[in-house]
Amino acid sequence: MDLFEYQAKDLFAAHGVPVTPGQVAETPEEAAAVAANIGGKVVVKAQVKTGGRGKAGGVKLADDAADAAAKAQAILGMDIKGHTVHRVLVTEATDIAEEYYFSFLLDRSNRTFLAMASREGGVEIEQVAVENPEALAKVPVDAVAGVDVAKAREIAVAAKYPDDVLDQAADLIVKLWDVFVKEDATLVEVNPLVKTTDGRLVALDGKVTLDDNARFRHSEHEALVDTAAADPLEARAKETDLNYVKLDGDVGIIGNGAGLVMSTLDVVAYAGEARGGVKPANFLDIGGGASADVMAAGLGIVLSDPSVKSVLVNVFGGITACDAVANGIVAAFGKLQASGEDISVPLVVRLDGNRAAQGREILANAGLFGVEQNETMDGAAARAAELAARQ
Ligand code: GDP
Ligand code: MN
Repeated sequence: MDLFEYQAKDLFAAHGVPVTPGQVAETPEEAAAVAANIGGKVVVKAQVKTGGRGKAGGVKLADDAADAAAKAQAILGMDIKGHTVHRVLVTEATDIAEEYYFSFLLDRSNRTFLAMASREGGVEIEQVAVENPEALAKVPVDAVAGVDVAKAREIAVAAKYPDDVLDQAADLIVKLWDVFVKEDATLVEVNPLVKTTDGRLVALDGKVTLDDNARFRHSEHEALVDTAAADPLEARAKETDLNYVKLDGDVGIIGNGAGLVMSTLDVVAYAGEARGGVKPANFLDIGGGASADVMAAGLGIVLSDPSVKSVLVNVFGGITACDAVANGIVAAFGKLQASGEDISVPLVVRLDGNRAAQGREILANAGLFGVEQNETMDGAAARAAELAARQ
């Protein structure tokens, strides 16, 4: 999960990394109130999860509270690389002497962590890496040894940070490592890390990516989730503990087991190529249980997606037998019809494995409208793609 700048800086502050005081605002009036509270000049910054806000006009200096309201007015609602600005961070303005770059990240290709640091900050670091690669220090960090003051100093020297800030930089880098490890991040980036005109180092921008696999260790991170931005269907699936990922095609997919669902996506995409480029509309793994409730919840979510033109249910019976799944589908139809859901989208069901014959018979006898069966995965995928292409 990527964080907004203000959230990243809150984490920085909690670990002792110097940041400027500030607060988020959703209206020009709120921005004025925050600015008045801070006093003096402030910076009004668009809170969107993308870089280059400065260049896009999403970072503006304001002289006073009234000016902060005007700048917030200009920035709120702005579109920055496809992200609409709903909030601004109003923060104390800093007198900048120099801008540096610093980050800790997960270096997957080398199976280690990496510190990247440069005296040339503020600008896009990718550009520095291409045009002036020797200006960007890359220092591997051992996961077990971590970063102590000596290691931090080694990184700061490699970055060619000026001598007069080395002590401060080492201290700040140790604290950023603390953020990286204790918050379970895969990225902690500060660009720019600035030296102020009075010689202090301050993290002026912050980008943090938290490791979702470590979410169970951080109940406090739940509050950082941007619920407004989440896909509504994915949010609904999450509430019912379903493993659902929205994709941009037209064939709804329901299967049991992540591996089977993944290969179903491939087979449908392949079958769809010959039928006008029909593609899977989602990934949905209903897991081992596949009870009527789970099937109804899953079908309900898939059918709520307006781009779904056909649905493929692909189940390989193992511990969960196909007759139980078939009963689940029949009961799910009953539940959905009872709640007035529209199930006019054609459904192709492939049941195989444990008690497949019994499952097929149950489905055939139920005579559900728009439901047809296919005995093979390839056949079912081709049929579902064909039905979607025909709509
Ligand atoms: P980004 O463009 O999304 O990376 O947003 P940043 O937070 O990095 O801001 C972009 C640029 O705005 C920085 O590199 C600074 O040059 C400038 N900036 C941001 N905050 C201040 C400030 O308090 N004072 C001054 N003078 N410039 C600032
Ligand atoms: Mn930046």
